[in-house]
Amino acid sequence: MKKISFFARNFLVVLLLIASVVANGQAKKLPNIVILATGGTIAGAGASSTGSAYTSGQVKIEAMIDAVPNIRTLANLKGEQVANVGSQDMSVKVWLDVANRVNTLLKSNDVDGVVITHGTDTQEETAYFLNLVVKSDKPVVLTGSMRPSTALSADGPLNMYNAVALAANPDAKGYGVMVVMNDEIHAARDVKKMYSTPVQTFQSPQEGMIGTVIFGDILFFHKPSGRHTTNSEFSVDGVKSLPRVDIVYGCADMSTDLIDIMVKAGAKGIVIAGLGDGNMNAGTLEAVKRATKAGIPVVRATRVPIGAVLIKGEVVDADYGSVSSDELNPQKARILLMLALQKNRSREELQKLFIEY
Ligand code: ASP
Repeated sequence: MKKISFFARNFLVVLLLIASVVANGQAKKLPNIVILATGGTIAGAGASSTGSAYTSGQVKIEAMIDAVPNIRTLANLKGEQVANVGSQDMSVKVWLDVANRVNTLLKSNDVDGVVITHGTDTQEETAYFLNLVVKSDKPVVLTGSMRPSTALSADGPLNMYNAVALAANPDAKGYGVMVVMNDEIHAARDVKKMYSTPVQTFQSPQEGMIGTVIFGDILFFHKPSGRHTTNSEFSVDGVKSLPRVDIVYGCADMSTDLIDIMVKAGAKGIVIAGLGDGNMNAGTLEAVKRATKAGIPVVRATRVPIGAVLIKGEVVDADYGSVSSDELNPQKARILLMLALQKNRSREELQKLFIEY
């Protein structure tokens, strides 16, 4: 074997030292992302990879991260298990826990963004709630999946990879809370679950997706509309619960006593998933008048997926004391109303909120 000189050996050692300092520096330069896991199909498991039966919220966050190839090359990752439920069991309590945790995390200089894994059934609601109460412009990204982790062609791992890539990207600051699924980026205010089971379930049918993320490569098309995050007046500081707000679903010949029943049961606000432009039959309109006269705000939304509810359409809100949800669907209108009810507001003030948020 050829002997290398003392000089050459020391030179090599110095080179190796420099290389390791540079490599370390690069590792440190990766953004710090925290993944808050709440359950859902993305954490779901079934007995067969080709069967449709499964249970949500079975897999823990560390195993979910480990199942995504190369995800740790995008960011320094930390996982926290906040809940592990199907999002049909999502609750105001978990919303408050997640919101407080996100706010605490994002206050720290050591956290650059947050990803939340979540079931798809109520993901748009959690996203919109956080959009109104997170006090940071750092990226907050929700993701989930339509196929459980055990399924053939499970969509969770790539969704998670893309969500982390988005949260780790400084250009994603200021977009409010986002939902990433199926290579698309959607704004919390606009996104709707449109399909019961296919992977393209999330769409923003009125405003369009705000961007795409393909194997971690991000392209933004437009900024989301509506006030959010640092520009929102709502806060969860010190909030332990939210007032009960119920949703009435409109249909032909609907029962006209539903609103009265809800008010009697303790609802502090009512949202109507109305027909078309927020319409309802004459008997229900009378019930709206009774509720608003008794000081219970009523918001008219629509059961159709696209379009705003007009303040002066077939129904003129001022005649019934009601408020239009503008473009918010019933489930998001309910969230805005729950937050708005923390303070006494006139009908006009409430209407302004629905136009601005
Ligand atoms: N029921 C599930 C959930 O919302 C559905 C899903 O995640 O796709 O948790």
